[in-house]
Amino acid sequence: EVVQESQRKTPEAPRRRVTLTHPDRIYWPEAGVTKEGLADYYTDVWPYMAPLVVGRPLALVRAPSGITGQRFFQKHARSGLNKHVRQVTDPKDKGGEKLISIDDLDGLIGLVQSGALEIHPWGAMNANLDKPDSLTMDLDPGEGVGWQAVIDAAQEVRARLQAAGLNCFVKTSGGKGLHVVAPLKPKASWTALKAFTKAIAAQMAADEPERFVATITKSKRKGRILIDYLRNQRGATTVAAYSSRAREGAPVSMPLAWEELSPQIGPDHFTVLNATARLNGLVADPWQDFLAAAVPLPAGKGKAD
Ligand code: ATP
Ligand code: MN
Ligand code: MN
Repeated sequence: EVVQESQRKTPEAPRRRVTLTHPDRIYWPEAGVTKEGLADYYTDVWPYMAPLVVGRPLALVRAPSGITGQRFFQKHARSGLNKHVRQVTDPKDKGGEKLISIDDLDGLIGLVQSGALEIHPWGAMNANLDKPDSLTMDLDPGEGVGWQAVIDAAQEVRARLQAAGLNCFVKTSGGKGLHVVAPLKPKASWTALKAFTKAIAAQMAADEPERFVATITKSKRKGRILIDYLRNQRGATTVAAYSSRAREGAPVSMPLAWEELSPQIGPDHFTVLNATARLNGLVADPWQDFLAAAVPLPAGKGKAD
């Protein structure tokens, strides 16, 4: 199916209104990516990324002097955030700390201005914090696990989620693994989602203990893949599709078509430097049906804990 360029991208690149201080600051020394380079990358991918990050709480990995400097994981707004970044109240946060969110490209560039090198959304929208609208299975290969085994694990997760009626999408993590993501109609609770995903991870580990583990105990991971279901609880986050990673080479988390999974595309294959060329060369966005593919979490699997 051929998709016209004009259908696939917004006709005009969105305009940025945020002024970057120190635009030439080098964030990724070896890849040679500057703060402005990161802002340009996000401007390019914004039409693809926006539906996946707007209007939901975001945690940040901030590394204001780049990947070789200090970094911190930030889940709440602090003073000094750019004015284009929105602060959101979490009614369940007794301390009253505000969550971080963005409405538009200026919000994202505002985060870049603050030295955010990674963007990690919740699997729920601001307006519906207690009802997750996506499920994420994070596949974490232990020491000595080859890439094909990670691909096979993703296919196994997909088969099990599909059997339960869910539609699955896959992306590279930009690190070591893959993320399998299923869009949900926001009806079930976090408790139900966690129980559901825990049951699937535990069943995989029970069926094939040589391949999979479902508990985070490091010693058990060697040679196996952790099916990390703990992204599926209130307040947990996963790196956003298209987010850069604060790791060497300026990798990004890249949505893929299932057929693209192959030895040629490793977990950190796509980067700030080559992502735009990939997107421009695509016939169709492999995640274009992501939002439309949402279904309710099937009832009755797994036990709450
Ligand atoms: P990889 O493929 O290398 O595993 P990943 O992004 O999946 O990359 P994980 O360590 O498996 O990395 O996932 C950790 C997730 O947990 C992150 O995506 C992030 O959203 C979340 N997280 C929670 N607390 C932290 C923290 N202190 N530092 C980093 N990530 C955190
Ligand atoms: Mn992971
Ligand atoms: Mn993990």
